[in-house]
Amino acid sequence: MFLSYTATRQALLSGKTTCKDLVAHYLQKIEARNAELNAFVEVYAQEAMQQAEVIDQKIKAGTAGKLAGMVVGLKDVLAHQNHGLQGASKILDKFKSQFNGTAVQRLLDADAIVIGRQNCDEFAMGSTTENSAMGITRNAFDTSRVPGGSSGGSAVAVQAEMCLTSLGSDTGGSVRQPAAFCGLVGLKPTYSRISRYGLIAYASSFDCIGVFAHNVEDTALVLEVIAGQDDFDSTVSRTPVPAYTQNLALEGKPKICYIKETVENEGLSEDVKQATMKKIAQLKAQGFTVESVDFPLLKYILPTYYILTTAEASTNLSRYDGVKYGYRSPNVTDLNSLYKKTRSEGFGIEVKRRIVLGTFVLSASYYDAYFTKAQRVRRLIKEKTQDLFKTYDLILMPVAPTVAPKIGELAANPLQMYLADIFSVQANVAGIPAIAVPNGTDSQGLPIGIQVMADFFQEEKMLAFAKYLMEK
Ligand code: GLN
Repeated sequence: MFLSYTATRQALLSGKTTCKDLVAHYLQKIEARNAELNAFVEVYAQEAMQQAEVIDQKIKAGTAGKLAGMVVGLKDVLAHQNHGLQGASKILDKFKSQFNGTAVQRLLDADAIVIGRQNCDEFAMGSTTENSAMGITRNAFDTSRVPGGSSGGSAVAVQAEMCLTSLGSDTGGSVRQPAAFCGLVGLKPTYSRISRYGLIAYASSFDCIGVFAHNVEDTALVLEVIAGQDDFDSTVSRTPVPAYTQNLALEGKPKICYIKETVENEGLSEDVKQATMKKIAQLKAQGFTVESVDFPLLKYILPTYYILTTAEASTNLSRYDGVKYGYRSPNVTDLNSLYKKTRSEGFGIEVKRRIVLGTFVLSASYYDAYFTKAQRVRRLIKEKTQDLFKTYDLILMPVAPTVAPKIGELAANPLQMYLADIFSVQANVAGIPAIAVPNGTDSQGLPIGIQVMADFFQEEKMLAFAKYLMEK
């Protein structure tokens, strides 16, 4: 019951359980393990209980919404009215959101219960949840390992049954990669499918809200509720939102490709490679067309991603100046020192590194050589990726080159950390949807994920295939 909303809902509607019981269950799990795992940075125990009571009444009255009693957690980058919002940064110390972001509002309108705010890398920059001003988060499966990042807290909260689903954000893999490291489903939809209103901006032309769940059905359900047109975000798509949950049966046999350069990549661990090749062989045996394709641009995807995202981050983060939000350095003498000291003391090292990098690639003398060039390469990558969809329905790929690393293993070397994003950034650079689903374990029993990507707005096809992958 605590691993599937369908089962939870049945139990709620038949009177076998109540929202209050559910919330009590999750609070107990949080009480038992959160001190060690640090998945939640704040828990709304009393409020969640009160909300549960309200929704229990609605269930009795037959007026309960689509997500009645779904207990959710929010990554600390999502605006939730009158609740803390810090992007896991000291610079937003004590900041509270004055409004609900669109996705959060839609969850609440559908009678979901928000149980707390979850740890992440500062401003969603990182791949391990070690860059947080609120301490590291540990993988519940093996606490000596990272949960992945940047939405590490959101993944662990679902993994350790502290809530049923979480909302995270995925700018370059931050939902899919932690999902893979924690043995979960993690979805990044098409760019513009979900409104970004109320999502703290990292790199606006890449940022997507994403979903963590134990299964594809729950993922599809949450997407169905939060996706779609929104007057508060002019970039959001007007394409109608399909009934994803009604179309999860696989129709026919989609044609699949995998990129040769990914499975032959020298950074790919033997265990992940074997798991990926095994899945490919299995699909072939089941009658699917699965072909290897060349994608020589693969090696340019990471540099393109890191040039453009740091550029966008450096401008997005200029708003944290000590005047409008959160932290302000106490020892300032004039306006300039207020800016300088607040930013020097408020931001962590990785965020500063990215602001410096981004400012550099946007500086007058280097703008064309880096920023403009990267924009052009981005266009090429998008076009070449779309070309694949002329022949194939879906692309299959590892999510990350390894299983969850040990705590500290990547933290010492930022470049090593960036390289680990090699398979997750393509979907964001191109803007297409992608989903990570569990694909077995390595020799030590650590979860391995596999990723399915589809063409723009082809979430239905992708979700149906992801469900098939999990069941076969
Ligand atoms: N690891 C990537 C980065 O640090 C992805 C982050 C994300 O998706 N938010 O930029």
